Amino acid sequence: MNISKFGTKRLSETTTIRLGGAAKYFIECNSEEEIIQTLKYASDNNISVFVLGGGSNVIFSDEGFDGIVLKVNLKGIEFNDDIVTVKAGEDWDEFVRTTIENDFAGLECLSGIPGTAGATPVQNVGAYGVEVGNLITGISAIDRGTFEKVVFSPEECGFSYRNSRFKGADKYKYIITDVSFRLVKSGEPIIKYPELARYIGTHIDLKSLNNGKERVLAVREAVLKIRIGKSMIVDENDPDSHSCGSFFTNPVLKPADFDAFLSKCVQKNLKPPYFKDGQNYKVSAAWLIENSGFVKGFSLNGAGISNKHSLALVNRGCSTKDILQLAEHIKKTVSDNFGVTLEIEPILAAYR
Ligand SMILES: Cc1cc2nc3c(=O)[nH]c(=O)nc-3n(C[C@H](O)[C@H](O)[C@H](O)COP(=O)(O)OP(=O)(O)OC[C@H]3O[C@@H](n4cnc5c(N)ncnc54)[C@H](O)[C@@H]3O)c2cc1C
Repeated sequence: MNISKFGTKRLSETTTIRLGGAAKYFIECNSEEEIIQTLKYASDNNISVFVLGGGSNVIFSDEGFDGIVLKVNLKGIEFNDDIVTVKAGEDWDEFVRTTIENDFAGLECLSGIPGTAGATPVQNVGAYGVEVGNLITGISAIDRGTFEKVVFSPEECGFSYRNSRFKGADKYKYIITDVSFRLVKSGEPIIKYPELARYIGTHIDLKSLNNGKERVLAVREAVLKIRIGKSMIVDENDPDSHSCGSFFTNPVLKPADFDAFLSKCVQKNLKPPYFKDGQNYKVSAAWLIENSGFVKGFSLNGAGISNKHSLALVNRGCSTKDILQLAEHIKKTVSDNFGVTLEIEPILAAYR
């Protein structure tokens, strides 16, 4: 491979939060062959590679990336009975729309999530009670060490709440090339989440619609409307969407930690919302932040909390350092108040 094929790029132009210095090398790979050639070149020349999708869940440092940023640009969607396979570089929401147009139910609650299809397994993307891990039937990937193709069953992906082997033990080990989903032909929409059910109950008469496809489409539209109201759809003209979506995951507490948390709440005369998650308890990160004294719209050195969503940190003219400082300030305040440690959801790009 010839290094002249590699450009350079300001990473702030490639991320939804619009942060990050320059990539020393930037390359868009349109085929698996190009990905493998790039990986081999990097390996032969001892250059770090960071794999980029749509840049909606990644934070690059202000210094940029002293290596190759490889943007996965593989395209294609294939329908095979109830299995739909999408290439990693397809835009996720376009893919969701295409499945619905082809009369498949299953992905409607995941409408409007930015980024590429290939990144969705990485953090087991989820919204409104649905996670991709429950619908995925298989993943194809390239092993970055051996350059070989590998295939994973869903059981092998280690999916859990906003996590998988691709974000955990095998972070940076694979480049996902294809993701297959089992969807339901002419199926009905899934409405599990109370907020979505309430919205539909007051805005849409699903029974009056003629068939499953129309109802699935109506649920997609409802999800998109709710998301727009929270700036959870990326929009050039909406400064509150210049984010990575939720900056923190909802903490999952072991019973003893949950008891300690509850006693702190009792002392403060607060009743936190929580959900049982197996043996553990999932606590709302947004509630913790709001009850630690932060309000929507809060700003510190140009880094802020969205006006519409307490979990989204937004770039109002700041640097990566500023956004990470704000995140640390929020984490410390929540920990001081409730003894709970918030985890950052986006990936902080590192060298490898
Ligand atoms: C406004 C907004 C709303 C959001 N709402 C949600 C939501 O409701 N639910 C949710 O779960 N997330 C949400 N997100 C987060 C984000 O959209 C998802 O995590 C998305 O899947 C990231 O895709 P991406 O292509 O942009 O990945 P990137 O940001 O480009 O990359 C994220 C990580 O995945 C890795 N990666 C990317 N592509 C590949 C590949 N092909 N193979 C291997 N690794 C890869 C990268 O190296 C990086 O570690 C939101 C983000 C924004 C900005």
